[in-house]
Amino acid sequence: MENVLKNYNLIKQEISKKKNVKLVAVSKTFPISHILPVINEGHNDFGENKVQEALEKWASIKQDFPNIKLHLLGKLQTNKVKFVLPLFDYIHSLDSLKLASKISEQQIKKNFKPKMFIQVNIGNEPQKGGVDEADLENFYRKCIEEFNLKIIGLMSIPPFDKDSLPYFKKMNELSNNLGLTEISMGMSNDYLEAIKQGSTFIRIGSKIFGSRD
Ligand SMILES: *Cc1c(COP(=O)(O)O)cnc(C)c1O
Repeated sequence: MENVLKNYNLIKQEISKKKNVKLVAVSKTFPISHILPVINEGHNDFGENKVQEALEKWASIKQDFPNIKLHLLGKLQTNKVKFVLPLFDYIHSLDSLKLASKISEQQIKKNFKPKMFIQVNIGNEPQKGGVDEADLENFYRKCIEEFNLKIIGLMSIPPFDKDSLPYFKKMNELSNNLGLTEISMGMSNDYLEAIKQGSTFIRIGSKIFGSRD
């Protein structure tokens, strides 16, 4: 069994001087029993990839720990949008206008506005979600003007097999161009690099909870 608390505290210590950096502990695939030590340590931000899994795992825990904030990191299908509010406080994977429109409807219905990141397909990978760089500015304008969404920043997952640095730099540039303040980038293997390039939300799973096999 992984020493989850030790892993967690090591990372907390590494980033302790970075006041603007928030750690999202990515707990997908792990049962609550595995996550509980980190909750009891006072950590509040957790990331999940799947709506159904998150509902089962977090709905009641969130009532016991009202400070917990849940972050949806994975692809969101439009037919699942009705289940995500108010369970998720943050959505990192906004990647289409159709999705923007559905979330817009739901946030009125539920009277709850999640904080959102626009996912950018920074490596132009056909198999990956995300808005193309060329469409980003238009997409952003529509999200705030037409859909009244609370867009706080950009998110990306750089290509798996390449050095993340040039992609992080590009993200920083795109974020500055739009005047956004938050950037969600950096995972277990590259979060220190991401922080150097301006990341404000790092998403760390395996380095805290162990490998997901
Ligand atoms: C799983 C996942 C993470 C965490 O990945 P690790 O490499 O385990 O740190 C971060 N972001 C997204 C979008 C993920 O799907």
